[in-house]
Amino acid sequence: MTDQSVCTTCPYCGVGCGVLASPDGTIAGDLAHPANLGRLCSKGSALGETLDLEGRLLAPQIGNRRAGWDEALDLVANRFRAAAETHGPDSVAFYVSGQLLTEDYYVANKLIKGFIGTANIDTNSRLCMASSVAGHKRAFGTDTVPGQYTDFETAELVVLVGSNLAWCHPVLFQRLQAAKAVRPELKVVVIDPRRTATSQLADLHLGLRPDGDAVLFNLLLTELVRRDLVDRRYVAEAVSGFDAAVAEAERAEAAQTGLDSFELAQFLDLWCRTEKVVTLYSQGVNQSACGTDKVNAILNCHLATGRIGRPGMGPFSMTGQPNAMGGREVGGLANMLTCHLDLENAAHRDAVQQMWSAPTMADKPGLKAVELFDACARGEIKALWIMSTNPVVSLPDADAVAAAIRAVPFTVMTDIMADTDTGRCVDVLLPATGWGEKSGTVTNSERCISRQRRFLPTPGEARADWNILADVGRRMGWPEAFDYRSEAEVFREFARLSTLGHTFGKDFDISGLADLTDAEYDALPPTVWPVPTEGPSGGRFFADGGFYHPDGKAKMLPIAAPASEAPNTARPVRLNTGRVRDQWHTMTRTGKAPRLGAHMAEPYLEIHPGDAAAAGLSDADLAKVSSAHGSAILRVMITDRSQQGSVFVPMHWTDIVSSTGRINAVVAPTTDPVSGQPASKGTAVALEQVAAH
Ligand code: SF4
Repeated sequence: MTDQSVCTTCPYCGVGCGVLASPDGTIAGDLAHPANLGRLCSKGSALGETLDLEGRLLAPQIGNRRAGWDEALDLVANRFRAAAETHGPDSVAFYVSGQLLTEDYYVANKLIKGFIGTANIDTNSRLCMASSVAGHKRAFGTDTVPGQYTDFETAELVVLVGSNLAWCHPVLFQRLQAAKAVRPELKVVVIDPRRTATSQLADLHLGLRPDGDAVLFNLLLTELVRRDLVDRRYVAEAVSGFDAAVAEAERAEAAQTGLDSFELAQFLDLWCRTEKVVTLYSQGVNQSACGTDKVNAILNCHLATGRIGRPGMGPFSMTGQPNAMGGREVGGLANMLTCHLDLENAAHRDAVQQMWSAPTMADKPGLKAVELFDACARGEIKALWIMSTNPVVSLPDADAVAAAIRAVPFTVMTDIMADTDTGRCVDVLLPATGWGEKSGTVTNSERCISRQRRFLPTPGEARADWNILADVGRRMGWPEAFDYRSEAEVFREFARLSTLGHTFGKDFDISGLADLTDAEYDALPPTVWPVPTEGPSGGRFFADGGFYHPDGKAKMLPIAAPASEAPNTARPVRLNTGRVRDQWHTMTRTGKAPRLGAHMAEPYLEIHPGDAAAAGLSDADLAKVSSAHGSAILRVMITDRSQQGSVFVPMHWTDIVSSTGRINAVVAPTTDPVSGQPASKGTAVALEQVAAH
């Protein structure tokens, strides 16, 4: 590495790897970072190829003309204030991103909930982990990830449910691979309707029927009861709802999983007779109309056996984005407050309002992502601010999302790129600093807070998101509340606020970091929360109970099997969307690195030979995939990786980089009724050939 190297954190997935980065684009894994211990994946190691300024937004724009910051920010402040005064605070909305740093997220949440007075702030993290958050809160009483990455290495059995870890969280997969190489007795089970790169590591791959997860874990719960493997002491002392959960689980039928009886028996036997079990789950669980129920069906099994919070065991939710967890901590979602406090609890709201010296407080949940853009389409939102995300590509029913944004009288977007699918729909574009140019903190999937540090000069007139938001807050009339000079000041205020977590008996507390000097903040090493002012820091939760429901117990929930869908002859195939190994989100950064493009050069339709034959498709044909919402044209890839009746399409390609159409224009805007997370893996589609190869 060069003398100018800085320790920072990768801006892509929720593993949160430490990176040594230099202004000349030299990149290496940080040996000292606990998430990756020096490893990087293909995306992380290509970061140096994505740092050029081509395509960057370098100055504010109003319409198609360049504007000064004063003019642009006065316009934003005036239009947001006017909308709130004329139509009420709920006519204003922010749609933010797990790409934001915690400091950005904190200021956005404070501005809209405490000063504008609405909870209409939601985030693209709604698309990746909302069902896990809802499941955690139902079971534990708060949104707590109980374990750590080292648990994967000390477990005897790792069960990966709905997770293509090898492509989506590659460094954690490398750690699991390395552990299995050293300890071949470590068993890996992959539960996924698709046979993915991850299943190559599996001792057992269960090609479950889509959405069969809750039934499978209900069967496991009854098997644990049948074998008398329930930890009766733990359940008696630390868990409620056991009998009702088991009674409902007994209604599960093995046929609903779509597994053959031998495979099913192997899985049940392995889980039952192995004490050190980690069950990791990701988007295949969360992105479902019954995602929260799937999460709770998994948590039920760990709670019934007390296999939680101890080394080498526990349920583990992987977050998709680099700071999805930070967004949860600051309360940057429509149904959350801050510091894991409850928006609908008057005492919690009053305490936060007092600490913020805020003139008002949102007192009811705001609109979740899909609802928010529906409200835009109905004309209920008069001013909308989108930050660091591209909903016209990433949200379901994406054409309707574009129309909804255009229907809002005033729209503003903060982004690093000048031309995005969403940017084309808004009135004002504000240039943000990007990775390497900005500074702050992110929290990864194991609750580890890491610094992102600057190592590049600020391009053009770009500014940090927290700085732009604070400036708008001052211009809207709250100069003292938003008088921040640095990201360190924002962080210290947030850390001070987190004493409320402790006061109200919640898990999130980083008050021990509230007095960091600027130099200490800059030098902050990776730090797992909680970090209270007094008492132990970091570690695991729940080994001896200590849950956050009023009775101090965890709750097991009765989980019913999802209603089975009637066959649809017009649209006979189920569309499953997801990621490819070498692209990230809508490709604004990874699309710049030629070697990343070499892995998958274009979007494709992965289809089983039986479905291809039924639709009259051959390999490399162009096929039209259509639903009730829209269509896309894709190159056919025939393979038995996807099971019959289900096709897979990656979600990254945009109208700007590909002329085939965004796949999310096809995806139905169905959501989980508890979490509001879109069900991105179950839209009924029709297939037709548009061009033979
Ligand atoms: Fe970045 Fe995730 Fe790869 Fe680590 S695993 S280098 S955080 S993309």
